[in-house]
Amino acid sequence: VLVLRGVERSYGALTVLKGVDFTLNAGEMVGLIAPSGAGKSTLLHMAGLLDSPTAGEIEIDGQASAKLNDAGRTELRRRTIGFVYQFHQLLPEFSALENVVLPQMIGGVGRKAAAARATELLSIVGLKERLHHRPGKLSGGEQQRVAIVRAIANQPKLLLADEPTGNLDPGTAEGVFAELLRLVRTTGLAALIATHNLDLARRMDRVVTLRDGAVVPA
Ligand code: ATP
Ligand code: MG
Repeated sequence: VLVLRGVERSYGALTVLKGVDFTLNAGEMVGLIAPSGAGKSTLLHMAGLLDSPTAGEIEIDGQASAKLNDAGRTELRRRTIGFVYQFHQLLPEFSALENVVLPQMIGGVGRKAAAARATELLSIVGLKERLHHRPGKLSGGEQQRVAIVRAIANQPKLLLADEPTGNLDPGTAEGVFAELLRLVRTTGLAALIATHNLDLARRMDRVVTLRDGAVVPA
């Protein structure tokens, strides 16, 4: 579902990624564990087509991103990728429910079906009583759960999550993890999850880390 070949990314004189080779298959959940500043977010943004590598190739769902124009990349991202940002990025003016409904409608789902799915998913992560709250009225962990649900609402083939359980208490983190793993096992979703939670990472299919700007087994 996701292939990175020789991916590099520099910020001015600082080269963060120095040749990342990595493949993620359908139905696989992989943990990305590396110290702060190692380049986890940089790698995920690249894989999510939110940023372009300074060298190397990225292939998503069989399509080479370099061969697409901006509109093509946006379309590929919208159709195949769900992204959980390190810092939520929810729409502040909209309720939890609408934050999950809107991306589905942009993807062509009708309002009623989108609302039903949003309600179901938000209930699974324990937010049944918070559907109509705006992000500013939710706790950090509640916002994080809305962001996770938003990312999977469009049934993406690839889920990229940047510390999705970082703000959650152990019980809630466990519940969210279990739901993501269920989706991976039952729908063939491929997930790459940056996390500092070693207990959860150990239960994934494999764990990789970043060493000197390259991906190696942890
Ligand atoms: P954390 O665990 O703290 O989230 P991370 O592994 O996600 O860390 P990145 O955010 O990918 O790390 O950052 C990797 C390096 O790239 C850091 O040294 C950071 O300062 C630098 N960096 C990231 N984004 C930019 C940018 N837009 N401009 C300049 N430098 C950047
Ligand atoms: Mg980061």
